[in-house]
Amino acid sequence: MKISAITAQAVSVPLVEPFTISLTTIDSADTVIVRIETDTGLVGHGEGAGIGVVTGETTASVLEAIELFTPALIGQSPYAIGHLHREMDRILVGHGAAKAALDIALYDIMAQGAGCPLYQFLGGVSSTIETDQTIGLADPGYMADKARTYAGQGYKQLKIKAGSNDDQDRQAIELIHAAAPGISLKVDANQGWNVPQALKMLSFYEKYDVCAVEQPLPHWDLQGAAYLRARSPIAIMADESCFTPHDASAIVTAQAADIINIKLMKCGGIYPALHINAIARGAGVPTMVGCMLESRLGIAAGAHFVASDPNIIYADLDSFRDFNDSSFVTSAFDVEVPHIHLSDRPGLGVDVVAL
Ligand code: MG
Repeated sequence: MKISAITAQAVSVPLVEPFTISLTTIDSADTVIVRIETDTGLVGHGEGAGIGVVTGETTASVLEAIELFTPALIGQSPYAIGHLHREMDRILVGHGAAKAALDIALYDIMAQGAGCPLYQFLGGVSSTIETDQTIGLADPGYMADKARTYAGQGYKQLKIKAGSNDDQDRQAIELIHAAAPGISLKVDANQGWNVPQALKMLSFYEKYDVCAVEQPLPHWDLQGAAYLRARSPIAIMADESCFTPHDASAIVTAQAADIINIKLMKCGGIYPALHINAIARGAGVPTMVGCMLESRLGIAAGAHFVASDPNIIYADLDSFRDFNDSSFVTSAFDVEVPHIHLSDRPGLGVDVVAL
């Protein structure tokens, strides 16, 4: 089987409401959908969604990178996935979302060719995963109302954004803890604190059953993260600090995290994500799979990956719920809060309209 054609299309979908984290506010999901055709007639789909302030990518840069990668992929076997990643790395470093779009479509084809759903192709057995739901930065009372609503819908885990105003962050957790008693809470500071600030916030959060704090410090500060982790009553999770397998290796060597958040859009897709998870597992560090602002297509890929290995203990795969219109991707999975039930069709199990 050989890759015969690659097409990419930008999609911009308004969000149901603006999504705010400590780094930025986002009004629309700007993503790129990729279609790869093969000479056997098998077709795969992938998605690349960058967030400039996190991944350094825009829709335009994702499209341009895919165009640059295309000649190196045409005529090659989709199963030569490691070789294809090395070829892409020789053309452009970084550009994880662009590489992820192609990688996901290639895994879709490989699993279809093997006649099994992607999670089985990756070694998994169960088609069901559990996800949390994220609450963006807003007025603390509004955040608590959302927590109450999500708990009522059946979510067991919430991820709460923080890191721009300590007083508001404290108030938000107090109100959320009261509004959704018993729910498991994670906090994501998105690099918003320094070491003394983080120490104070961690000791506050301990009283509210927060089970993990994600990226408390700037992404480059592994030494600070290791210092914090040694003194923290709460698990420390690395997100923006970990893009590549090399980052994962540096993190576990520095003992800078208890959990690593893998995102297909940061690392370049499932192939490098498997390496990051293997490095983490080898060091006794569990992982989470998170997302940028992917549609149901990218989320399906993340969910298949979650279902592939028990070292992935958390899933934060909720962005598709913020899309005002997801009709360009159908099927993929069924949602029964807090679970995602993956399709048992071969491959990703997605249908894409208009490509
Ligand atoms: Mg994060």
